[in-house]
Amino acid sequence: MEKGIHSFDELKKRFTLTENEAAYKGGNNSLPISITPHYLSLIQSDDPQDPLRKQVFPDCREEKEENLEMMDPLEENNYSITPRLVHRYKSRVAFLTTDICPMYCRHCFRRRFTGNLVGPADDDEIKEAALYVGSHKEVTEILLTGGDLFTMSDAKINHMISMFRMYSPHLIIRLCTRMVVTEPSRFTQHLIDLIKQHKSAPFYLLTQFNHPREICKESIEAVSLFVDNGIPALNQTVMLHGVNDNADTMEELCNTLLFHRIKPYYVFQGDLVSGTAHLRVHLSKTRQIEKDMRERLSGLALPNFMIDLPFGGGKVPISDSYVEGCSHNIWTFKTIDGTKRKYPN
Ligand SMILES: *Cc1c(COP(=O)(O)O)cnc(C)c1O
Ligand code: SF4
Repeated sequence: MEKGIHSFDELKKRFTLTENEAAYKGGNNSLPISITPHYLSLIQSDDPQDPLRKQVFPDCREEKEENLEMMDPLEENNYSITPRLVHRYKSRVAFLTTDICPMYCRHCFRRRFTGNLVGPADDDEIKEAALYVGSHKEVTEILLTGGDLFTMSDAKINHMISMFRMYSPHLIIRLCTRMVVTEPSRFTQHLIDLIKQHKSAPFYLLTQFNHPREICKESIEAVSLFVDNGIPALNQTVMLHGVNDNADTMEELCNTLLFHRIKPYYVFQGDLVSGTAHLRVHLSKTRQIEKDMRERLSGLALPNFMIDLPFGGGKVPISDSYVEGCSHNIWTFKTIDGTKRKYPN
């Protein structure tokens, strides 16, 4: 990890920065700078339009809060049971295992929390969260998220899983990580063997690939460790301006993921998080891409295009509903290309 970049000065030494990148100041509340050696090796060094570079090079536009932007648009703080346990949807909770990531994405929507360098939850925090989940039988799934779960030691991860499973033996566990993309060498058979010890526990791996070039030999191998050992992989992509906001890139991303046994699950419209406006895509453009994907992709390759609404409104699909209405017991549907079809009740 030491071979990565961890400060603005190092970045300036190794790359020719654009005007917006060079003007970055980085105040007290800013997201740290960190780019892993693996991700650096994927960046085409001096192309300022490089879609991978745009995700990790800081930019002075991060330091502006645009109209309607907020630090916590999803109101996760309001839905927090403990400082690290978010209970927004009835059947599932998100546990913020640690605020540390090996690499910081400039589009991070949880920047209120991420990168404050507080570190992993301690044993008391884990126990408090596990007790809460155990006493709420309606909770059937937990998202172990952050930060990045896999910045913690194997032993710590194992302990966390044991605690939640002890109080809720039937819990479904989502392992949410971008580390298969950012530093795939983290994933070893030893780690997988530890996870597999929790024999009856259903695990799902939730990744974040945003661009086809992030899918390389190393990241495929990391994901395969999970899939080969019975842990299905699903991907969540963030729509990002200049990164993946065109139909050809999105099509290639989804098809390549599917080919490597990673099911495209969600594509997220950018949240109204402070300092991320320059990376957000016009909603009308996202909606057009969604429509194009519905024509081009198989059902397996097709993700759900979602928006997590401001003021804690929750996730909804961005698409039109395909029902126009119903009268005299006849439904009217719109097809993808906008023509109408009737269907009796
Ligand atoms: C997105 C999210 C979930 C999971 O939602 P799914 O639609 O089931 O993927 C759970 N908790 C929080 C706080 C979330 O933001
Ligand atoms: S890996 Fe996830 S939590 Fe970490 S900076 Fe990137 S988007 Fe944020």
